Amino acid sequence: MPVIHNGASYLAADAHAHIYPEKIAEKATASVGRFYDLAMRYVGTPGVLAEAGAQAGLDRFLVCSVATKVEQVRSINGFIESACREYPQFVGLGAWHPDVEDIEGELDDIQRQGLRGIKLHPDFQEFAIDDPKMLPFYRAAECRGLPILFHTGDSRKNFSSPRQLARVLQKLPGLTCVAAHLGGYTEWKAARECLRGSGVYVDTSSSFPFLSEEEALESIALFGADRVMFGTDFPMWPAGPELRALFALGLTQAENRGILFENFARLYRVSTQKESHG
Ligand SMILES: [Zn+2]
Repeated sequence: MPVIHNGASYLAADAHAHIYPEKIAEKATASVGRFYDLAMRYVGTPGVLAEAGAQAGLDRFLVCSVATKVEQVRSINGFIESACREYPQFVGLGAWHPDVEDIEGELDDIQRQGLRGIKLHPDFQEFAIDDPKMLPFYRAAECRGLPILFHTGDSRKNFSSPRQLARVLQKLPGLTCVAAHLGGYTEWKAARECLRGSGVYVDTSSSFPFLSEEEALESIALFGADRVMFGTDFPMWPAGPELRALFALGLTQAENRGILFENFARLYRVSTQKESHG
């Protein structure tokens, strides 16, 4: 069942979804809900994501998980890899941690596992995006052409602000980044100001429920509809209302095709054909 709007049918990907192994999914989901003081719609298991996403008409899912301790990096990446094998519609990102010592070795493993980039959550992992300690890792990711999906924005903290990401991009303009949540959760205006012209990708996750249509359109125009990707922040928001919020903006069919699938497919090198993982 594809996504259908105004008689047109769209290939659609969720470019921002979190998954957890079955036995910790309930606890992990609840703790994210507490952190943001938001109700979580689902329990974040791979099976629930695949099922709820398919019901909403989504064809592909970018899946990730965050390592709050360096010892978790390997096991999380093994879990993401196996979820991608089980669900060929998943595209996985590797977990990372600022304390990883063997940067090149760990990145080799991540690429060998077929993962297409790295996910970082500076607020959960408690490091500043622009901490100089992160630069060797960013340089290595840049050399390999590996995109980094950053959780960005939290006005209560000073780890993940769009300003901090802008400082990194001034140093490393070739780094491919996704600034999640339209450039900065709760910091949408600052994101427009300081990430303008930086070439970052953004995703729409955890944004529409908080923004007016005018403000959402302003952000999309500023980053460029060819650099915006639809995302739900699963297990946080149900895909149906998020899709309706996107279509309510009245973008052109070509812009919606880009945001729903093409930009995601280009960035993460995903074929538009149904293919098996590997
Ligand atoms: Zn996230």
